[in-house]
Amino acid sequence: MAKLRQLIAYLERMAPPALQASYDNSGLLVGHPDTDVEGVLVSLDCTEEIIAEAVAVGANVVVAHHPIVFSGLKRITGKTYVERTIIAAIKHDIAIYAIHTNLDSVLARGVNGRIADRLALENVKVLSPSKNTLNKLAIYVPRENTEEVAQAMFEAGAGRIGDYDRASFRSNGIGTFHPLEGANPSIGEVGSDEHVNETKLEVVVPRVLAKAVLTAAKRVHPYEEMAYDLYALESNYSDYGMGAYGDLAEPMEHDEWMAFLCESMELESVKHTAPTGQLIRRIAVCGGVGSFLLPAAKGVGADAFVTADYKYHEFFDAEGKLVICDIGHYESERFTIDLLFEAISTRFDTFAARMTSRNTNPVRLYLPAGAPH
Ligand SMILES: [Zn+2]
Repeated sequence: MAKLRQLIAYLERMAPPALQASYDNSGLLVGHPDTDVEGVLVSLDCTEEIIAEAVAVGANVVVAHHPIVFSGLKRITGKTYVERTIIAAIKHDIAIYAIHTNLDSVLARGVNGRIADRLALENVKVLSPSKNTLNKLAIYVPRENTEEVAQAMFEAGAGRIGDYDRASFRSNGIGTFHPLEGANPSIGEVGSDEHVNETKLEVVVPRVLAKAVLTAAKRVHPYEEMAYDLYALESNYSDYGMGAYGDLAEPMEHDEWMAFLCESMELESVKHTAPTGQLIRRIAVCGGVGSFLLPAAKGVGADAFVTADYKYHEFFDAEGKLVICDIGHYESERFTIDLLFEAISTRFDTFAARMTSRNTNPVRLYLPAGAPH
C-alpha cells in the first residue's frame, strides 16, 4: 500500500513546493505523511462537501488546487467554512494536500499548460519565466562510474534544456586526494597519495531540484566524500514561471475566436474587451487571477489574454492592443482537476483516484429566460 509521503514526493517532483508564491500555503495541510493511502479525491477547492464526498467514496486523501488554510487559524470552533472543513477532515481521518501556485508555475504538467492544451495552442512557452531559477552542478566521478551517476542525476530532474533532456558536458582529468586517518576510501589507502582518472560531469539543474539531484548522485557515487561544485546561473529556466502563451494553428476573426474559446473551455459566458480589429492568433493564458500578467501578454504580442478575476478598471488597460477574456476563476482552472487525476492515477495503482463530481464554484450566473445566450 502506498504511503501518503510517496504520493506527496511524486506531486512535489511534478510541482516543486519551492516554486509557490510567498503568500501561498501549498503542501500537506491536514494529516500525517505516514498514512496509508486508501483512495484520493481530486478537487479544485476543499470544502465540507468535498470532505463528505471523500468519506462517501472511501478516499482518505483530498488533493485540492486551492489551499483551504491560507493564513493562520487562531481557533477551530466551526464558525467558518474553513474551520468546519478542517474539523470534518480530522474527524474522518482525511488528509488534505494543496498544490496551488507551485502548480501554476510549472508549464509541462501545470494549470496553464492544461489551458493551452484545451485551446490547442502551438509552440507553448512560459509567459513570465521565473528569474534565477537555474543552477549548474559539476560532479567529479571515477571514469567508470560516470554513466551511472549521470543517469541518476537525469532521473532526478537534471539536464533539461528547452525541448532537450539528459544534457551534460563531460571532460576527463586526474583527481587527486590523500585519505586522512578515519577515512574509509573506496579507492586508495589511508596515508598515501592517490591519482584517479575522473570525469567532470556538468549538468544544469533547476535550483528547486538541486538537493534532490545531489542526493540521487550521492546514492550511486562510489566515494565517501563526493566532490562537487554547485553554483547559480544568470540564465533562466524557461519551464518555470507564471502564465503561458502560444499560437492558434490558424488565425481567427474575433467572433470565431470567442465561440472557439467557449467551446474549448466549456463556458456559458465570457467578459471581454472590445475587438481590436486584428485577427486573433497569439494567445496568452493565466488560470485564476491574471491581470498582473497583462504587460507580459502585451510583451509577447498576444492578440487575446485568457484569464479571470479582472476588475472593472483593469479592463481599460487592454488599450485596444489585445482582447482581455475573463472566463471566470473556476472555469479557468477546472481542468486542473483532470490534470491531477491523470497524473495520480497513471503513477499509482494501489488505490483509486477519483475526480470530484461536485462543482465547487461559489459563483452562479443568472441568465434570464429569453435573454440572448
Ligand atoms: Zn485559483
